[in-house]
Amino acid sequence: MPEAPPVAVVGSGIAGLFCALRLAEGGRPVQIFTKRRTQDSSTNWAQGGIAAILDKTAKEAIEAHVQDTLAAGAGACNEKVVRAVVGEAGDRIRDLLSLGVNFQRDEHGELHRVREGGHSSRRILHAKDATGREIERSLIDAVNAHTGITVHSDTIVVDLIRRDHTNPSAGVVGLWVQHEDDVDVHTVPASAVVLATGGAGQLWAPTTNPPVSTGDGLAMAARFGAHVKDMAFVQFHPTSIEHPSRTFLITEALRGEGAVLLDDEGLAQWRASGDADPAPYSFTLNASPKGSMGTRDVVARAIDANLKRSGRDAVWLVTEHLDADMLTDRFPTIQNMLADLGLRLGVDPLPVRPAAHYTVGGVAVDMNGQAMDPSNRPLPGLYAIGEVACTGMHGANRLASNSLLEAVVYAQRTAAHLLNTTPESTHQDLPSWRADGLLPVEEHGALAHDLNSLRETMGREVGIMRKDARLARARRRLNLLAEEVDQTWRRCRPTKELVELRNMVQVAALVVKDASAQHENRGLHYNADLIAATRESTP
Ligand SMILES: Cc1cc2nc3c(=O)[nH]c(=O)nc-3n(C[C@H](O)[C@H](O)[C@H](O)COP(=O)(O)OP(=O)(O)OC[C@H]3O[C@@H](n4cnc5c(N)ncnc54)[C@H](O)[C@@H]3O)c2cc1C
Repeated sequence: MPEAPPVAVVGSGIAGLFCALRLAEGGRPVQIFTKRRTQDSSTNWAQGGIAAILDKTAKEAIEAHVQDTLAAGAGACNEKVVRAVVGEAGDRIRDLLSLGVNFQRDEHGELHRVREGGHSSRRILHAKDATGREIERSLIDAVNAHTGITVHSDTIVVDLIRRDHTNPSAGVVGLWVQHEDDVDVHTVPASAVVLATGGAGQLWAPTTNPPVSTGDGLAMAARFGAHVKDMAFVQFHPTSIEHPSRTFLITEALRGEGAVLLDDEGLAQWRASGDADPAPYSFTLNASPKGSMGTRDVVARAIDANLKRSGRDAVWLVTEHLDADMLTDRFPTIQNMLADLGLRLGVDPLPVRPAAHYTVGGVAVDMNGQAMDPSNRPLPGLYAIGEVACTGMHGANRLASNSLLEAVVYAQRTAAHLLNTTPESTHQDLPSWRADGLLPVEEHGALAHDLNSLRETMGREVGIMRKDARLARARRRLNLLAEEVDQTWRRCRPTKELVELRNMVQVAALVVKDASAQHENRGLHYNADLIAATRESTP
């Protein structure tokens, strides 16, 4: 009997790296494929932190985290999943600590906790404002030190290989991959494939996501025959810096420390009043009694509506009533990025607007991270974890800082499940990528043009506030784009740009299809033609 090939993990964010480590520690050889440098991931950019109650006996605190998650999810969370993830948080944080993650500590050496929008208490662990970078650093160190893991960076996974070409239920047996310096696509056998490819924020401009977040895993899973669900629910982060030279996220934790959203009128009124606290002057109070600290969907919509009304590009995130030294100490990464734009925390109002941030929907998985087909049957050997997956944890709206947590919990669950499963050898010659007669892509300019029109369509027609007519227009435009891209795909050898564009167009179509199928406004999905049927997250 031939030896079973390694598990292939696609992606090197928190989900992929943690799962690979657990598998290797359990004796399963692992290959990680990641399309740029290992650290290029949303994980590396995560600022705010990771929500977790460490003490498993703290029943009330755990229950409060569960209830906040359910409330944010607008009645669409899978409560069993929420309870499992929140309940396992303490163990996974202890794992991260033992891997060397330096979460911030207070003067007594206790883990420091902050609060973000939608959380009823301070329960978010952080490493100042660069939590993801600290997690990613520790996990990469541990992965590099493990002899059972091979990392293939600058290597894009182009597609998954079915055991039986015509039948996804027979499972997955490998991958087609392409190294950045290579025109050829190579066949890689795998005893299982774990998709940990992150989200699809790059479908929109502006986005807080890194360039790698192009929805590849979602598109590959859909092509394979997996059920990709809840794609209507796209989280727009309320506060992304609006500047011609740069877009970057301003963590919600800044509002947790007292920063307040004001429009031009609110700012003028507050300054004229001489009041110490700007909060009562925030336009967000019209949307939620929690004002600037309402859940992300409510706050992002309030900003979007305000900007549409005023015709301006940004509202203000005001911090001048807060201690500048405290803010600079707490948010050094943000202060550095702001300094490049000539802005200072505690002094200047920051121009902000919403930007695409988190893909709530994804590959439908069971509680082991196994991908499911549309009839809810597991697809043998195919797993999805992290942002690419839809576990049911976030419902119709993700609570801040719950995604790193969900990713690490499911990475552990998937690894445990795989370690309990006898690896299957492939028993067959896997097909090569058919490249005969394919030409090199001659003009990447045309692809860039198509990408711009995709982003323009998604931003204009499938943003925070949707309408039936806009969704229909988006559908028509995406059909045309899909035809264009398909023609190039059939004619040309793959390149990273072409693979990503094809995936993005396919994922965009999934978003529009799911958004068009919604019969009520719920959580992150908001269609102005459905105003009568609105079920909100608890504001
Ligand atoms: C700016 C920002 C701030 C955030 N802040 C927080 C926060 O404070 N708390 C929180 O909980 N969440 C936060 N999030 C969300 C969170 O960071 C992500 O949901 C989480 O990191 C996703 O982890 P992941 O491992 O699933 O994917 P990622 O970390 O995105 O990693 C995906 C990996 O897959 C690789 N990949 C993708 N496609 C392919 C392919 N075809 N072939 C090979 N490799 C591929 C990528 O290169 C990358 O390595 C933030 C996100 C952003 C963008």
